[in-house]
Amino acid sequence: MKLSNHSLRQLDTTYLDGLDEEALRLLSAKLLEDLKEARERLNQNSRNSSRPPSSEAPWVGPDDEPISVYDKADGKTVNEVEEDRTSGKEEVPSENADSSCPPEKPEQEVRRAGKVEGAQGYGRKAPERIDLIEAHAPDSCACCDLSLSARKMVAYTGHYEVDWIRTDRGDWQTHHIKHLWHETLCECGHLTRAEPPRRMEDAVEVGGFRLIGSGMSTLIVALSLRYRLSRARIREFLSEWQGVWLSVGAIHNVIEEAGLAVVPVEAELIEAQKQGVRSCNHAFSLKSTGSSLAITHLA
Ligand SMILES: [Zn+2]
Repeated sequence: MKLSNHSLRQLDTTYLDGLDEEALRLLSAKLLEDLKEARERLNQNSRNSSRPPSSEAPWVGPDDEPISVYDKADGKTVNEVEEDRTSGKEEVPSENADSSCPPEKPEQEVRRAGKVEGAQGYGRKAPERIDLIEAHAPDSCACCDLSLSARKMVAYTGHYEVDWIRTDRGDWQTHHIKHLWHETLCECGHLTRAEPPRRMEDAVEVGGFRLIGSGMSTLIVALSLRYRLSRARIREFLSEWQGVWLSVGAIHNVIEEAGLAVVPVEAELIEAQKQGVRSCNHAFSLKSTGSSLAITHLA
């Protein structure tokens, strides 16, 4: 997507009236590209994309046809009933037709998302020390492409990232990074924000405001898959031994995202096996690219 939600919300006719012809053409091209991408996503399903079938609406069948819903009274499908109606074969409903209808189900209590009231809550504490501050600012205006490097930027949000890195001395240590995200006002009046790249892949959000760095992600994946620790045990280990508090949900997200990052490796390993490599001695490391995970082949 060319324009973020924040940028799109600012666009209105008053703003468009103030743009010159070239800026309008630039903005139109971005809007057109975003519209096409949005339409493509709207038409995606489990047969033409990597979406799981469970993401489909329940009435969509395996061949993209509505599942035949049987009429409860006579066992006919909705399509057959419709055919009868158009050919004049429709039966007159009997007086006691209502008695064949199943009793209405009692309304289920709608559960609110989030923590159950009264349950113990968990919050993430700010780290006691910060090893690095990373500032992120927009390079150019999201609408008119004017360079914003010389203009004043203001931090609108920030987040902490915890990582596990190897120092120059060869030992490992936790590393706390404070990310500051800035916004800059352009001459055209548009406020552009620097935002981390984020996308959905197989119903998993990749990127975004990452709380866990690539080194810490690698450690979590090793603890989960190699040492078979549950999410709760990993949380306990990181808290007791590393002094890092992460929620079970954050740990789960990291494992899911790492799984997506290593998908291409499977094909590579199979190919290596086909070519007669007897023992696969591959080593891989998760690396951060921007705010997203990527895999690096080490050997
Ligand atoms: Zn601008």
